[in-house]
Amino acid sequence: MKKIAVMTSGGDAPGMNAAVRAVVRKSIYHGLEVYGIHRGFLGLLNGDIKPMNLSSVADIIQRGGTVLRSARCEEFKLKENQKKAAQILKSKEIEGIIVIGGDGSFQGAACLAAQGIKAIGVPGTIDNDIPYTDYTIGFDTAVNTALDAINKTRDTATSHERTFVIEVMGRNCGDIALAAGLAGGAESILVPEIEYDIEQVCKRLNKGAERGKLHSIILVAEGVASGFEVGEQIKKRTGFETRVIVLGHIQRGGMPSSFDRVLASKLAAKAVDLLIEGQSSKMVGIKENKVIYVDILEAIKAPKKFDREMYELAKILSI
Ligand code: ATP
Repeated sequence: MKKIAVMTSGGDAPGMNAAVRAVVRKSIYHGLEVYGIHRGFLGLLNGDIKPMNLSSVADIIQRGGTVLRSARCEEFKLKENQKKAAQILKSKEIEGIIVIGGDGSFQGAACLAAQGIKAIGVPGTIDNDIPYTDYTIGFDTAVNTALDAINKTRDTATSHERTFVIEVMGRNCGDIALAAGLAGGAESILVPEIEYDIEQVCKRLNKGAERGKLHSIILVAEGVASGFEVGEQIKKRTGFETRVIVLGHIQRGGMPSSFDRVLASKLAAKAVDLLIEGQSSKMVGIKENKVIYVDILEAIKAPKKFDREMYELAKILSI
């Protein structure tokens, strides 16, 4: 293998730049030529492919977002477009591709592998919703962003003796809500993996109020319900003054944490190694602090495990 390409795809995540940097520098270290595909699969179909060198990735390790830009591209789900994309890569003698993104992007990578381009997926999404890896790139930074918001909300919640409902991202995965909720001392954490009972949530709020609690914070993962709906229900049942905050896209931005930069560097470097070995259709991940790789299609199909123990602990500690 002499030439490889790298792209970022799907929702952006802090740490994607650190991953791009590691792909480029590790490839050059091993004597490979490396190309950057701009705007994910859309850019690939448009031939938006540029050579990268050591300087192309200078001064980006600390930046949020992705210098390669990201995009969604529904047309890439069509086989004819996948063939066209593989043809574009082959015409430039690019034999391998590293796709940094979420499960949708991994589907795209698998399609390219089926068309004869060696493809490796690097999990880059704040949602932490990919099986076979304990963490995805961007998750840690997103949790810290949510935590910062919780800390600030606590100040005003205490001053005004209010209940706050904070909605966080995560699609159908409750990991951001769980980690930010535990670290932020939320009274209740609502996640899609576990059915919630609004009566129980209100009961906990009332119990806290009885022992003189001045503020309460309820974390709601976006995959459960809208924060406004939950806030309405709480207000109706308890009569407590309730405010709702939807954190939204700020969770996707910001300077990546040291954890995300290190993770991105390790996973991306492993992806380059796999291409050099001639592997294809694999996803890299981190399991019990070890970099591993698995079949990408298996990873997409497998259910994501939820940390029930951590959830129960958060419940016990927030009494
Ligand atoms: P995130 O979960 O962070 O949003 P993602 O990678 O899952 O990231 P998607 O929008 O699901 O984001 O997918 C990104 C792109 O991958 C899509 O716009 C499309 O180009 C490609 N893709 C998704 N699903 C498929 C599929 N089934 N076949 C081929 N390509 C796909």
